[in-house]
Amino acid sequence: ETMNINELLELIMKRLRPIAKKADVELVLESFRPVSAEVDEVKLSLALSNLIENAIKYNNPEGWVHVSLNADYQNFYVKVEDNGIGIPPDSQAHIFERFYRVDKSHSREIGGTGLGLAITRNAVIMHRGAIKVHSIEGEGTTFIVRIPLNYIEG
Ligand code: ATP
Ligand code: MG
Repeated sequence: ETMNINELLELIMKRLRPIAKKADVELVLESFRPVSAEVDEVKLSLALSNLIENAIKYNNPEGWVHVSLNADYQNFYVKVEDNGIGIPPDSQAHIFERFYRVDKSHSREIGGTGLGLAITRNAVIMHRGAIKVHSIEGEGTTFIVRIPLNYIEG
């Protein structure tokens, strides 16, 4: 189904805003160019929600999460950037595995099952896209999702 990705992101941000507020994390939607694409709305929403939720959850008070949407002729790109706790280098290869959680860096109690990123990656692969992570411990994390504009199911 052809979806307005801007509207989809706005909806996700609206849903997560109270969670960000509670965590004292600033949630910002930036460089927002118009994109419409063939996507599975439910699966993509869940995939992007998981990323933004993590960026809020693995953050510090007065931290921020910046979400941006860009596109070229073939793909659109959603970038979720945070200045939170970061992911240790040896964990970065495992975070997309089911039930994997980085626990040594969790000085405070952060709940979760370790399924979010596995679900996100499955949804991205299902759209024939790709996901990349860049992270520095103690500085922050950036996830970039690339999805083809003309994904056709089947
Ligand atoms: P769930 O999402 O199922 O509630 P979860 O958040 O622990 O649980 P994932 O979303 O799959 O599971 O993330 C896996 C692990 O990767 C997390 O436990 C956390 O250690 C690490 N992680 C994910 N996103 C970030 C981030 N933005 N900053 C720092 N660490 C992160
Ligand atoms: Mg998660």
